[in-house]
Amino acid sequence: MSGFFGCVSRKECVADVFYGTDYHSHLGTKRAGMAFYNGQEFTRSIHSLESAYFRNKFEPELDKFKGSSLGIGVISDMESQPITVISHLGRFSVVVVGRIDNLDEIEKCFLSEKKHFAELSSSTVNQTEAVAMLINTGNTFKEGIENVYSRVKGSCSFLILTETGIYAARDKYGRTPIILGKNDNGYVVASESSSFTNLGYTIVRDLEPKEAIQISRDGITQVTTPGCRKQICSFLWVYYGYPSSYYEGINVEDARYRCGAAIAAHDNVEVDFAAGIPDSGVGHAIGYSNARKIPYKRPFVKYTPTWPRSFMPQNQSMRDLVAKMKLLPNEAFTKGARILFLDDSIVRGTQLKDNVVKLRECGVKEIHMRIACPPLVYPCVFLNFSSSRSNFDLFTRRVIRDLEGTSDLTEEILKPYTDPDSVQYKKMLEVMAQHLGLDSLKFQRLDDLVKAIGIPKEDLCTHCWDNSSYL
Ligand code: SF4
Repeated sequence: MSGFFGCVSRKECVADVFYGTDYHSHLGTKRAGMAFYNGQEFTRSIHSLESAYFRNKFEPELDKFKGSSLGIGVISDMESQPITVISHLGRFSVVVVGRIDNLDEIEKCFLSEKKHFAELSSSTVNQTEAVAMLINTGNTFKEGIENVYSRVKGSCSFLILTETGIYAARDKYGRTPIILGKNDNGYVVASESSSFTNLGYTIVRDLEPKEAIQISRDGITQVTTPGCRKQICSFLWVYYGYPSSYYEGINVEDARYRCGAAIAAHDNVEVDFAAGIPDSGVGHAIGYSNARKIPYKRPFVKYTPTWPRSFMPQNQSMRDLVAKMKLLPNEAFTKGARILFLDDSIVRGTQLKDNVVKLRECGVKEIHMRIACPPLVYPCVFLNFSSSRSNFDLFTRRVIRDLEGTSDLTEEILKPYTDPDSVQYKKMLEVMAQHLGLDSLKFQRLDDLVKAIGIPKEDLCTHCWDNSSYL
């Protein structure tokens, strides 16, 4: 998904941007970068995260940013960024969180105007550079930001570091958040408000969808009028978000407790205890166990000292291996046990299947799986979540294809599988449970998920589950 952090301060802000960006490391596995302005020059650094932590990569070069009181940083799940340019608007650096669905169209349009792209990202156009070029088509930064809003399909929240401050612009439908924070020396903006606490910043507010602000040492100026439609990604609370973060004033961990409790309200299976698949299944499982007043235990523990999140390779088979090696079963709680597990979602189903095999080998008697969101029927086109996968990489789609005997899954065929009260949905769950080797399987209902998050349905993106969206 990616995440960013920016700071405008009356003092040097290098340490704040360094640690603030580091607190977004759970949001990306590919690249990271920082850019600073020290009153005279822009300095920038980008590193791969595929073989080391953010802090290990950037710590040795912090001296080169010394004296800067303006800075931005990004953990990127896709392209190299920040992009720094010199243009008629002056010098500036950009970082982007989102996914430009019509990147091809934007590329063709610039190429037809005899413009070029210099920063290739795996042989394709770097989407952050495309955003920098769209900004440059304006006569002012305000016009440039409005051009991004009008031309980009998909999602795009971004920060622009200039010589006088930072522009922060939230995606036009607010699919990804930007939170504004402050302390006595200045302001910060970030994807995760959890990055504020240890650095001494407090939350001021969330930016609105399509709202851009300019942050200078003198204060905040609103640059664009917010849009009236919100479609914030529900997955932030279910999976992506850090437990201590708030989006729209709603705490992630708290929402996960409510998700677990909502599942528990429809469940009466007899088990010895509840457990979460680390990490994001844990909050949901605590909510479930509290609501049903059954013990919470950890039959799986994550080996974090040498298998941190940032060692996630891009190759899928290596990712599966890493996922397998990371989780250690604790046989003290597995032998002969009837366990109810909570997980955030089922995407491909392969990791879950491996975990079930591992648990059976460790003597677990019954495995009941509860999933914090409904079955994923539609791939995400707004973020880098399930987007790079073929539709049939989604476990749900494969099961529907097999049940229907066709790969041509029209909306008419798919729709009944999104209705938890339909015959087709019940059959699909039966087949899924059988394939995964589970004693029982249940998913959260969409209306319960929406209630657990606590935001009106029309303000949430729920496209993954019901194909609803404003493109
Ligand atoms: S489609 Fe799913 S993952 Fe993508 S933005 Fe919407 S809710 Fe989030």
